[in-house]
Amino acid sequence: MAQIHAVPAFSDNYIWLLENADGTAFVVDPGDGDAVDDALADRNLRLAGILITHHHFDHVGGVEMLKEKYGCPVWGPHNPALPFIDHRLGEGDRVQAGDYSLDVIMVPGHTLDHIAYFRAAPEPLLFCGDTLFAGGCGRIFEGDAPMMYTSLSRLAALPAETAVYCAHEYTLANLAFANAAEPDNVALQQRTAEAQSLRDRGLATVPSNIALERATNPFLRPDSAGVRAALQAAGHEARDDDVAVFAALRSWKDNF
Ligand code: ZN
Ligand code: FE
Repeated sequence: MAQIHAVPAFSDNYIWLLENADGTAFVVDPGDGDAVDDALADRNLRLAGILITHHHFDHVGGVEMLKEKYGCPVWGPHNPALPFIDHRLGEGDRVQAGDYSLDVIMVPGHTLDHIAYFRAAPEPLLFCGDTLFAGGCGRIFEGDAPMMYTSLSRLAALPAETAVYCAHEYTLANLAFANAAEPDNVALQQRTAEAQSLRDRGLATVPSNIALERATNPFLRPDSAGVRAALQAAGHEARDDDVAVFAALRSWKDNF
């Protein structure tokens, strides 16, 4: 049976290891090659392929070492700054990663080259790198707020039960901001208590799911009256369109 393992790396990255029934594995965003190599050895798996979401070093730093050692192909975005990519992917392309059939969704905003990988069936799941986080979203480094909001909205429109595998354990910090941005959200308060309890026991809060993100992630809720009231109370100008509210939330969070 196919299984997904979290390989922790650096201070808060998760590298996702997709185990196949035949003893091979694929890895998503191997920023640290040694961490992946150890995880493969622990489980007696052989690396068969590498998937990349975007060009940041904490997501690609281990690619060359792993590619050299295992001779496996690399899939990733159309970005000439990543010379090690063998198969360039764009909107609507499909990758067969062992047991996982993944569709590519372009989600620019954090970076211009950012892509996400979505599996529709049997159980839907999403590898979204630094675009959608549990309780938050990535910083806008290369795109702009309308671009990032469009990308997040596409992910938010995926099936409610989709498991969300993001690339960092940023959840508690994200939820601290979320509570400031929507103080009366009861589902958010409940989520925050659950996440705190998981972290207190040293457990990951990821994967999340799309239903929970829609209900509690302020960046997917710019139409919420509570979010808009909190923004105004925090001294931001009143806004009545979703993109402008999103942009104000993102800049508030950047300085939170
Ligand atoms: Zn990044
Ligand atoms: Fe990152």
